[in-house]
Amino acid sequence: MRKRGQQRAMLRSPFLLTVAAVVLGLVGLTQLNTPVMQVLSFATPTPTDTATPLPTNTLTATPTRTQTPTRTPTLTPSATATITFSPTANRKATRQARATQTAAAPTVTLTPTATQTPLPIARSARVPILMYHHVGDLPPDADALRKSLTVSSERFNEQMKFLAEQGYTTIHLAELVNHLQTGAPLPEKPVVLTFDDGYDDAYFNVFPTLKDFGFKGTFFIIGAPTDYGSPGYMRWEQILELYENGMEIGAHSLTHRYNLGQFRASIQDSEIIKGNQLMVDHLPNWTPLFSYPSGSYNQYTLGLLKQLGYIAAVTTKQGALQTSQAPLELRRIRIRGEWNTSQFLYWFNYWSSRP
Ligand SMILES: [Zn+2]
Repeated sequence: MRKRGQQRAMLRSPFLLTVAAVVLGLVGLTQLNTPVMQVLSFATPTPTDTATPLPTNTLTATPTRTQTPTRTPTLTPSATATITFSPTANRKATRQARATQTAAAPTVTLTPTATQTPLPIARSARVPILMYHHVGDLPPDADALRKSLTVSSERFNEQMKFLAEQGYTTIHLAELVNHLQTGAPLPEKPVVLTFDDGYDDAYFNVFPTLKDFGFKGTFFIIGAPTDYGSPGYMRWEQILELYENGMEIGAHSLTHRYNLGQFRASIQDSEIIKGNQLMVDHLPNWTPLFSYPSGSYNQYTLGLLKQLGYIAAVTTKQGALQTSQAPLELRRIRIRGEWNTSQFLYWFNYWSSRP
């Protein structure tokens, strides 16, 4: 009885009651809340597991997807607005910048732009450049090559008559190149007449015929035989007479012995530079023009001619389409001595209409 009384007394004591309540509560929690704890402990990792991929997926994917459509419609009008407005603004800015630049240094900034503008414009013109060598009678011992290179005076006269009747106007190579580079107008049916090698029949047969038709021609001189007074070649006085009577004179190398494109630089230098010097010495205010001996040249030849200030050079490439990109590679139509008049007409028309 006493024990029961003691137990009751103990139970009644508030301290023991609270201790018992705490103990019971802890036991109950560990047993009852284990699943809850597990759920909670699983719930905390699960969100972190799913939250890390999900936020990155949903945050980066959806916003950008929704932002891009909303951005593009709002951006396109503003983009078109800036496209139409900004260039003019930029132009104005560059104009202003140029204006300030030119105000600071006017000659330096303006001169290069003025001279550079016509150069990049590619221009082409279909201008037949006829290539003659000998005009006159054949020597009795003439071989096939000499026959091919020689047009009789009668045939030459017929050919000039054809050009005149067809309304062709003879022009100089300098005019052709000027047209290609600047767009300066040419006559309606331009043609260039070239005579290679500087034979004296050019002076005796070609020159009078050209004068009769009111035509002009271009004569290419081989320096050495001309300077030595070799028989069959024009003298400097005769060349000067052609030159002073409105004929164009060009250089055709020093000796004509070398196919320049197949020779080393030193040979090319000698052939071109020495030949050039003879022209400069004999013809006042001479415009440098060149005809490649046997039509042979390479990149070195082109570079050297450019360096020496040559404005035009004729090749033996067949054709009539001339371009501003290649004034040192003008095409020609070879006129063969064995042709009759109808063959001349056929080949003249054929090559004149081809590139
Ligand atoms: Zn020649």
